[in-house]
Amino acid sequence: MPRTFDDARRWARFGTSLLVEAADRADLDDDGLGAPSALPGWTRGHVVAHVAANADALGNLVHWAATGEPTPMYSSAEERAAGIERGGRLPAAELVAWLRRSADALETAMAALGDQQWRSPVVTAQGRTVPATELPWMRSREVCVHAVDLGTGPSFADLPADFLAALCDDVVGKRRNGPGPALVLQAADTGGRWELPGEGDTAHLTGPLHEITAYLTGRESALTAPGGGPAPALAAWL
Ligand code: ZN
Repeated sequence: MPRTFDDARRWARFGTSLLVEAADRADLDDDGLGAPSALPGWTRGHVVAHVAANADALGNLVHWAATGEPTPMYSSAEERAAGIERGGRLPAAELVAWLRRSADALETAMAALGDQQWRSPVVTAQGRTVPATELPWMRSREVCVHAVDLGTGPSFADLPADFLAALCDDVVGKRRNGPGPALVLQAADTGGRWELPGEGDTAHLTGPLHEITAYLTGRESALTAPGGGPAPALAAWL
């Protein structure tokens, strides 16, 4: 079933709570936000800063939709990188406060949009023109996936099954246009099935939906090839 606008609004709120709780927990943790996240080369602080900066950036697109005045997500690639770098320097309490404040501001700004404004076209950081109704989905992906990347507890198994299925649809849609192995993925628990055209003999991979999602998004996954070996390697996603 295709995802709806209301689904995405719900997932964005769910993921935000999950992420804020996970960041709070990391702050109390001995290793704190300076510890490595599950993303190569990123501390937990980098992940939190990236998600906070993402809320500010999506807020620019909400402003664009609300007023018609073009306000891009980031003024430059340097600005985006600088947002992440701040994560390595800010004290943990300030970083978590920025995460909360930016998420609340985005939610408030989105709640104020009218039907006509939601339908306004905006341009994403990847250069895609989309109606503003896509923004809650973009935010859902960020908060839900990075809550797992933080590495302080939440896993893909903690995310709603309908979100995981929508994310698999989204990632498969993007991967379809790039290089990679031919795959058929079957979710043993929910019956979801995804096909990816690609190189070589088609590998049939079966596992729980959350493992399939982790695999497709390039995260650590327990999914194995039919013979028991590792699942074929995938290129980076996004
Ligand atoms: Zn991200």
